[in-house]
This record gives sequence, structure tokens and C-alpha cells, in this order.
Amino acid sequence: MKNLEKKARAYALKNAIHYNGKANSGAVISALFNEGLKREEVKKYAREINKIVNEVNKLSLIQQEKEYKKIKGLVSEREVREGLEELPNVTKKGVIMRFRPAPSGPLHIGHIISNMVSSLYVKKYGGKFLIIIDDTNPEETLSEAYKNIKRDCDWIFGNVTEYINSSDRMDLYYSYAVSLIEKNKAYVCTCKQEAFKKLAENKKDCPCRKKSIKENIKDWEKMLGSDGFKEGEAVLRFKSSMQEPNPAMRDFPLARISLYKHVRQGNKYRVWPLMNLVVSVDDIEYKMTHIIRGKDHRDNAKRQKMIFDVFGKKFPWTFFMGRIKFKDLPLSKRKIVAAIESGEYKGMEDIRLPTLFALRKKGYKPEAFAKFAEQRGLTEVDKVMDSEDFFRIINNFSK
Ligand SMILES: [Zn+2]
Repeated sequence: MKNLEKKARAYALKNAIHYNGKANSGAVISALFNEGLKREEVKKYAREINKIVNEVNKLSLIQQEKEYKKIKGLVSEREVREGLEELPNVTKKGVIMRFRPAPSGPLHIGHIISNMVSSLYVKKYGGKFLIIIDDTNPEETLSEAYKNIKRDCDWIFGNVTEYINSSDRMDLYYSYAVSLIEKNKAYVCTCKQEAFKKLAENKKDCPCRKKSIKENIKDWEKMLGSDGFKEGEAVLRFKSSMQEPNPAMRDFPLARISLYKHVRQGNKYRVWPLMNLVVSVDDIEYKMTHIIRGKDHRDNAKRQKMIFDVFGKKFPWTFFMGRIKFKDLPLSKRKIVAAIESGEYKGMEDIRLPTLFALRKKGYKPEAFAKFAEQRGLTEVDKVMDSEDFFRIINNFSK
């Protein structure tokens, strides 16, 4: 503890100097946490750390700086963050960044930390923070989710420039699809899913790959027309290569037929663009400059870069964030829904759930999550936490 106490004091001083003489115990705990303070120790030391922070806050800024000079060797430069690190390639116009929630369930803490970093960068540099509601999966789109996403994002970020619904931009996705066919970079594949999978596994071309541009345009129109292909009979594929070393990159799908009635668009469309087409088109059209996303999107980013390359567009600077995993909270929509169905929770608005709705109801301040996100910054490291530890830090930031 002796050593930890000294470190806590050094971090408290550093934090105080940065924030006009007032250190925050949440920031100090979080810094120590990154340094190897064990989860089970936080509880034990929280009071001690609070005491140290209070002592430091009683000093004048000059006293703080004087003392800090003597002990700053204890503090690792890298591990205590004084605000967010600078992003590369930022112009005078600032940055354009986005968060793409799917309207399939409530927003929860898992969505927030990395997207909060994007929101904070837009606050820091100026520019635009766009919320693009990913509603081109008609089967997974709930009508009440739209207003809930707006309510939650307005509250947690406070700097949303614009809300956009993907499904309002269908003509644009279609025109890109046609453009890809015309550039001989996409084709309509009518192979059965299983058959294509086998071909992909064996790095073999499917017969549809040989079709001419003209034939593909005709087949694309057959996908769009109600007397043409039926659901599941045809998909539009990107022509990457069937010899790609990473199987996930081999002629991946761009659009498919679904007759499912969309909550906003009804039965207006039967061909729905898939994620990699939608995201690429939006990122190109909105001139996204920087993207911060989960590590699980690495392959998608590679696919999207291939689409950017076809159009000669520069791919945005991208960072893949590590996840925060909670050992004891249901954080996927699937798990939340299952927990509600099993009777464990009363419904989506049960305030024991880790949803943004519940956090707001419980009186949490968005600034506390912002400070946590800022402290964590850009990191590829996954972190496993108990919700108790997480909220202890959040509570400290709330003070
Ligand atoms: Zn095929």
C-alpha cells in the first residue's frame, strides 16, 4: 500500500494540475487501475484514495506543481491521460465522425464508451457528429427504437449534429450498387447459400462470376422487380477474389432480397443493401474523416476499404477500440431480451438493466461517462470488469 499511496498522490497531483487545481478521485482510481491495481483492491483503497485527493485539492496550484515535480517519476507518462490524445489528419474544418446504432433494441453502456470518444473528439475539434440509424435490416427494426435512440443520444452525447435513417437513402445505395456492377466489381449470384460456401472454402469461382456486365444489370433488375427473383434466390456480391487468403473477404454479399415489411418503409423495397455497402456509401457521401469502432469490425473495415478503392476514395482514419466486458451484466440485445423473457427483468425499461434509459432514470450524469471515456482514451486493450467496479469509478467521476 505504501507504494500505491505514493502513486495515488502523484496521480492526484497530476490530475489536479491539469484540471485547475481540482483532482477527481475517479480519474485517480482509473489511472491506478490501468497500472495494475486489482479489481478486488479498489473497494479496500477507495477511501484512502479519496482522502489523498481531498488533501491534494486543499493545496494551491503552485504547491501542487512544486510537489508534483518531486514525485512525477512515479507516474507513467503514457498511463495517465491528460485529455484525449490528438488525432492525425485533422484539418481546420474539424472532424466528421459517426455512431451507427441499429434500431433493434435499447442502447446500453456497451454502446457508449467508444462512441463517447468520437463525440468527445467532435467537441474537441469541431465538425460533425452524425447518428446514422442502421435500419436496412427490415427483420430487425423496431419502430419504438427510433425515438428511443434520439432520446438516449441527445442525453448521453449532447452534441449530435444530425440523425439520419439509412432506409431513407435506398436510392443512393442502389445507384452505388449499379455503379459497382458497371465497373465490373459486383455481380448477381444465384448459387444456393450452401453451394457458395463450399466454393468459397475451396477458393473456387462460382459460375455467376463469369457473367457480363449487361447480364448482371439485367439480373439486378430481376432482383428489384416483383416478378423476378424470389427471396433467397439471388444476392449481389462484391467481386473481390475467391482466392483471398482471408475467407471473409471472398466475394462478400452487398445486397439481398427481403419481403419482410419494414416499420418505416412498408413494402416499398424488396432489395436491401447489406452492412458493408451501406456503411461504405454513407462514409463516402458524408465524407467521414475519422472512424472509431469496435475491434470486431476489423474485417468489415477491410471489405469497406475495397469498396472505397473502387471509387478512388481515401479511406477514413480508423481506430479499433478494445471492448469493456462486464462479467455480470447482460449486454447484448439477445441476452437482454432473453433475461426479460425469463422474468428476470420486468421489461426494456426495468431500471436494473444497463440501458441508457435506466442510467438516466437513476440520475447518472453524462459527464461521468465522458470522463471515463476520456481517461480510457484510444485503446485496443479489452477490459473485463464487474459492474460494481465500473460504477464505483463512474460514481467517483460524478462527484
Ligand atoms: Zn453464384
